[in-house]
Amino acid sequence: MGVSNKGNCGGDSRRMVVMYPAPGPGHLIPVVEFGRLLVSHGLAVTIVQRGLPADNATAPASSLHGDASASPFLSFHYIPEPPLPAGVPEGDHVAKVFELTRASNPELRDFLRVVSPAALLLDFFCYSAADVGAEVGIPTYFFFLSCTASLAVLLHLPVLHAQNAVSMGDLGGQPVHVPGVPPIPANDLPAPFLDRTSLSYQHFFALSKKLCESRGVIVNSCRSLEPRAADAVIAGLCTPPSRTTPPVFCVGPLVQSEEVADKRGGECLAWLDTQPKASVLFLCFGSMGRFSAEQIKELAAGLETSGQHFLWVVRSPPGCDELELDALLPNGFVDRTKDRGLVVMSWAPQREVLEHGAVGGFVTHCGWNSVLEAVMAGVPMLGWPLYAEQRMNRVFLVEEMQLAVAVEAGENGVVTAEEIEGKVSWLMNSDGGSELRERTLAAMREAREALSDAGDSRAAMLHLVQQWIV
Ligand code: UDP
Repeated sequence: MGVSNKGNCGGDSRRMVVMYPAPGPGHLIPVVEFGRLLVSHGLAVTIVQRGLPADNATAPASSLHGDASASPFLSFHYIPEPPLPAGVPEGDHVAKVFELTRASNPELRDFLRVVSPAALLLDFFCYSAADVGAEVGIPTYFFFLSCTASLAVLLHLPVLHAQNAVSMGDLGGQPVHVPGVPPIPANDLPAPFLDRTSLSYQHFFALSKKLCESRGVIVNSCRSLEPRAADAVIAGLCTPPSRTTPPVFCVGPLVQSEEVADKRGGECLAWLDTQPKASVLFLCFGSMGRFSAEQIKELAAGLETSGQHFLWVVRSPPGCDELELDALLPNGFVDRTKDRGLVVMSWAPQREVLEHGAVGGFVTHCGWNSVLEAVMAGVPMLGWPLYAEQRMNRVFLVEEMQLAVAVEAGENGVVTAEEIEGKVSWLMNSDGGSELRERTLAAMREAREALSDAGDSRAAMLHLVQQWIV
């Protein structure tokens, strides 16, 4: 595959920064936003992706690629998908991503030697590429796509490991303690942290070390949203004593811009135009969230009895082919709720939906991009985590930031229709829900301030640009 150094365009030669995200919209969207910001400050940015452009064109992120190519200084470089190395346990998807990234290091090395960028910015899934950066002599940073509190936990992992003789999964609901963050019930930690013998745990352990050896960790958050976590991380309280605390740069919240948004599900916006102000509950569970058939039926029943207006993004249950809506939802549901509800398959333009004045609440899986988008739109949340670090994010959102209320699953893991109806009515109609909305609006104002000319996120971003542009 050819290498094109877009840093040198039409005689305008710019220093290049290479960003290396893991696959998936949740990773690519904020990386593109940061890339666009760097370009607007005089740098050239190349985003490295595994796979072929054709593979990525089928992903929801294809429109990002389309728009990015519109700027001569923001380009994509594709490295071939390597074969999966032997020894990755069946079903350990997290270890698989880490291992595939490691197997791509020779290709990355060749590319970096050609373009010789001013900096290499790694997604944490790509931490093993820090060795390539060191070998080629390129300053290596991490672009951390979850919250600062999550970074605190990751930096503290070796301490938690030493404190506990057993896997943290054996601690059940007992809390683990990390400076700057609320106590986290052990079973709310990300799944790879729960089994110290797993390959994915070993990768996170190694990642924790690499963070400390990097030139800095760039976080998609702002201090006002997570002051305790930011102060603890920056003061080195989360880092094991034997390690150096990396410089931390909170540059967020960076959320998807309209120009690069995936516009599928565009009918949602026209429908929202017909709805009363702040009346609609939006339900969307990230780029991958799926529910069992039973859970979909409970959710539909809860929405129906709540009497609330809603916009719901639904996917077929895991292992099912893409089903038609009629096959997924209870008999007659669409007809009975047609005056106040819209259900769309797979994807909605979430950022624009949240910004729409008709939306008054958001049921979210607590993915960090979704949280930031809700904060930037001032929309209060109900937290219903599904995978990755989302259960832990919910603890931070509910206990620390106080910007969400939890939707609780029963012992069988299913959230009942009654629980849904109760929480939805509380959010949309109660004094408590109004207070949550006020707190979210205050967080929105502070986050916007952080990004403004005088804001601390902008100052952190400019500090980085100055390091790279010389
Ligand atoms: N998204 C969207 N429409 C959808 C589902 C997701 O636009 O129907 C976007 C969402 O706005 C966010 C990203 O995809 O920017 C999902 O990132 P997040 O970190 O919230 O969750 P993940 O998909 O990584 O679990």
